[in-house]
Amino acid sequence: MKNVAVIGAGTMGNGIAHTFAQKDYKVQLIDISQTSLDRGMATIAKNLDRMVAKEKITEADKQQTLMNITTHTSIAEGVKGVGLVVEAATENLALKLRIFKELDSLCAPDTILASNTSSISITQIGAVTSRPEMVIGMHFMNPVPIMKLVEIIKGYSTSQETYKTVEELSKKLNKVPVEVNDYPGFVANRILMPMINEAIETLYNGVAGVKEIDTVMMLGMAHPMGPLALADFIGLDVCLSILNVMYDGFKNPKYAPCPLLVNMVMAGKMGSKSGEGFYDYSENRRAEVVSSQF
Ligand code: NAD
Repeated sequence: MKNVAVIGAGTMGNGIAHTFAQKDYKVQLIDISQTSLDRGMATIAKNLDRMVAKEKITEADKQQTLMNITTHTSIAEGVKGVGLVVEAATENLALKLRIFKELDSLCAPDTILASNTSSISITQIGAVTSRPEMVIGMHFMNPVPIMKLVEIIKGYSTSQETYKTVEELSKKLNKVPVEVNDYPGFVANRILMPMINEAIETLYNGVAGVKEIDTVMMLGMAHPMGPLALADFIGLDVCLSILNVMYDGFKNPKYAPCPLLVNMVMAGKMGSKSGEGFYDYSENRRAEVVSSQF
């Protein structure tokens, strides 16, 4: 399996394309938006430049990686002859179901269909295809070229053969795959989001301020980033949506999003991407946060 398609050239999609291409896979990067494709390719080039500057790769590696990626605005064009599709389009249930129905009709019967979704059920996605045994979650972490983990999510019908293929492939990408069953939040977000929610609740209850809460978790628990800074980095709208998925999925009040989080999202304070969340990013602090990891 040397040909893969990645759907969505946003934050995750361009990182996933970069990671496959750097390991010499031929990557078809697909997005409905030409602007997203251009921005995604520019991000990949910039991130490769950082790796060259740090002498992790050579200039020739960078050029080869870029040459391994072809961009498309049409799914039908992009998925021709690929053995795996990794979908990393916008997190929206109706959109993902539509994309997977389309993929099912366009791809060869032996093509594995994976989703990078953070919170949507792999079982539900698989059920709209004629090949649920070949539908699986490949949950990469941001920034993809740096973060080692891939949560591999087995839907109710995912076959062991599909799991094994994706596990092997993840190892070839120099990632560490972890096998996870398909329940709301999988493992990463099931543990991370309640911690972030509790940090917000602690702030909301006036126990301590933003910097104080983050300092306790960084210096006391050796977390590289405090939970409130991390929430800003992930996006407060994304955190809210994942908490709601877990709240609805488990029908358990312990996942209920803190009212302060709900208010901030309603006010348009989404974190670093909107310029303000728990911190102020008006002086381009986001760039610092991201670049320090490359
Ligand atoms: P993003 O908004 O940065 O990018 C989404 C891209 O999908 C956009 O470029 C958009 O144009 C494209 N798109 C929308 N509809 C499409 C379609 N029909 N066909 C092709 N492309 C389409 O989003 P993101 O943060 O990269 O998230 C993508 C997926 O990854 C989501 O499922 C999200 O839950 C998951 N995820 C995100 C993170 C994170 O930290 N951002 C981490 C893990 C998983």
